[in-house]
Amino acid sequence: CEQNEDTLPIIPDDLPDEQIGHDQSDDNGSITIGLSMDTLIEERWKKDRDMFKEAVEALGAQVIIKAANGNDALQVTQAETMISQGVDLLVLVPHNAEAAATIVGKAQMAEIPVISYDRLVKNANVDLYISFDNEQVGMLQAEWVTDLVPTGKYVYIGGAATDNNAHLMKEGVFSVLQPLIEQGDITVVYDQWTEAWTPVNAKRNMQAALEANYNDIDAVIAANDATAGGVIEALAEQGLAGKIPVAGQDAELAGIQRVYTGKQAMTVYKSIRELTEQAADIAVKMARGEQIETELTINNGKKDVPTVYLTPVPVHKDNIYETIIADGFHSETEIFVDD
Ligand code: BGC
Repeated sequence: CEQNEDTLPIIPDDLPDEQIGHDQSDDNGSITIGLSMDTLIEERWKKDRDMFKEAVEALGAQVIIKAANGNDALQVTQAETMISQGVDLLVLVPHNAEAAATIVGKAQMAEIPVISYDRLVKNANVDLYISFDNEQVGMLQAEWVTDLVPTGKYVYIGGAATDNNAHLMKEGVFSVLQPLIEQGDITVVYDQWTEAWTPVNAKRNMQAALEANYNDIDAVIAANDATAGGVIEALAEQGLAGKIPVAGQDAELAGIQRVYTGKQAMTVYKSIRELTEQAADIAVKMARGEQIETELTINNGKKDVPTVYLTPVPVHKDNIYETIIADGFHSETEIFVDD
């Protein structure tokens, strides 16, 4: 069969190297930040990439960006390259919370500070962690769904077990579910991680959950909108889409559209603008040698990491305007397309 360029899968790649032009010997104060990303697959990460670049450049600094396509070894190599190119600080979105400690060690040897961005690197000497309160993300999902469905059979479709956020989100969800489980009001009939956070793996898990329970399920909490999309495909196969509430996270365009059309009960909005602007501000200050004080610290197994937590916002059919549209995250015309 003929392979044509157009039919090849599009593998999201990193941006071409930004004008690096950074020379450690220069003393004109020019700062270069390295951003090492796990993936660009979920819609949000392209926003993270673009908005972070914009924010760093607005502060008069430069940025080099690499994305590793979910490959730990590639992420290490890319980070090593950035370190040898002389970045002043590394902002790291780890693919694997544990494996990425290698990168932090290498940066530390080169005396380059590391900010753990959105996801925490475990057991490593990271200098700062900035993210949304991921436990709260899970709590918001579970609070919304348990209000809608106070009794019945629940399914939990978690994120990737390699991602510390997936664990925090699950803790948040179960902190809300646990008392209801103990009261006998709800039962969790299926609970599974989703390898690599992919919709196809989430769909497979949801198919298994439906089959094992003869479709007798009352509510689903999925760790993000990508996995919620897979869940809803599995529900649709059984004619159940829109009949069983599903919670997601990220306020991806497809997720918000499903919330609008009633196929998904809610999502959780995390302002990527706020995250990138704060991260860029802190990164440039730290790269210039300023000390950053935070009110919070989180232990990552090695140290109490100074932490900045931003607040996630629940989004459902009735507040799309005052959250997503008001913030310019997606426009009205993008969201309200005919189903
Ligand atoms: C992020 C989510 C994202 C997921 C998959 C998590 O660490 O917090 O926003 O959907 O990774 O990339």
